[in-house]
Amino acid sequence: MTNPKSQQTALIHTDYEAPSGFAAFPTAIHHASTVLFKNVAALRSGEWREKNAYTYGLHGTPTTFTLEARLAEIEGGLHCLLAPSGLAAIAMVDFALLKSGDDVLLPDNVYNPNRELGRWLADFGVSARYYDPLIGAGIAALIQPNTKLVWTEAPGSVSMEVPDLPAICKAAHEKGALVALDNTWAAGLALRGFELGVDVVMQALTKYQSGGSDVLMGAVITRDRAVHDRISQAHMRLGMGVGADDTYLVLRGLPTMKLRFEAHDRGARKVAAWLKARPEITKVLHPALEDCPGHDIWKRDFSGAGGLFSVLFDERYTEAQTDRFVDELKLFGIGYSWGGANSLAVPYRIQAMRQDWQHGKGILVRFNIGLEDPDDLIADIEQALGKL
Ligand SMILES: *Cc1c(COP(=O)(O)O)cnc(C)c1O
Repeated sequence: MTNPKSQQTALIHTDYEAPSGFAAFPTAIHHASTVLFKNVAALRSGEWREKNAYTYGLHGTPTTFTLEARLAEIEGGLHCLLAPSGLAAIAMVDFALLKSGDDVLLPDNVYNPNRELGRWLADFGVSARYYDPLIGAGIAALIQPNTKLVWTEAPGSVSMEVPDLPAICKAAHEKGALVALDNTWAAGLALRGFELGVDVVMQALTKYQSGGSDVLMGAVITRDRAVHDRISQAHMRLGMGVGADDTYLVLRGLPTMKLRFEAHDRGARKVAAWLKARPEITKVLHPALEDCPGHDIWKRDFSGAGGLFSVLFDERYTEAQTDRFVDELKLFGIGYSWGGANSLAVPYRIQAMRQDWQHGKGILVRFNIGLEDPDDLIADIEQALGKL
């Protein structure tokens, strides 16, 4: 510019360019709705589906592309798309892979909002049916010609049954259905979904990936380009944008995720083993314990367990008593979600949630074991049990 800019314009335009060549470990945080093109020809040739260039903030920035590429690599997939929450990622999979007249199968222990979404799909002409999570190869009998998708969750994040993924995948693939796995519990670390045959892996990054109880985000990871392209269409059409700062927070969590996950796992196993010996508790639903339905499958398919498990109280305790137990805990917050440093406890009305519940009337309480000293958590549980 030859003429000096007016102050107002100078507030908006500058000729300054920072020197290139800056290098540091953190991924840069790129905020953008508008992405600039060099000229009109570049704008016209912009192809949002290809991740080798930029078209609009919604379709990706260096920050979101980096997180997607890193998650795909960690999970053993090739493609990844981010969504503003884990539930949004689930919805994106459904909208991408199901259409009017189709049928979807969901495990009866599925993450409850996924179950709700399944019910809502009826309004779009898609039937959702719920199967016994321990059905294994028996799922073949449920797969109809119009069944296009089978959801799995390993394990179910409240009641913890571990499904036989290779058997379910084999039956689904023989009948032309795709299998999606909610791999949130194992953080994409302790369970290798693609190696067991699943087509689509979904993760709630809200949990271990962020690790800070301060971000909502989800991811859908695939290996097959054609399946990825269908999900990519849904990603675009539904406008699944994620915030740059949130993306950065998830990236920041990755280097420590495995160490945190293993610490959650150690703490949870210690607390779970202690609870198993308590007379107030009839069952500890932790996949690494023999009590847990599907424990043998966990042993075969998983390399770890993380911090989330549930217990069933003896039927002699009323809901008022177990609510009091949860209220009396000092180190455990009362609240949903998990995967952060803070321990949490939540009672669930599991008998009302499930069509096939076989573990009696005892109250279920779910624990997220955080990163506190497990001995302090045990002492806290012990004092709260004393108030029952
Ligand atoms: C939390 C969670 C989700 C959803 O994640 P949000 O980011 O909270 O929407 C999905 N599946 C499982 C198993 C979860 O625990």
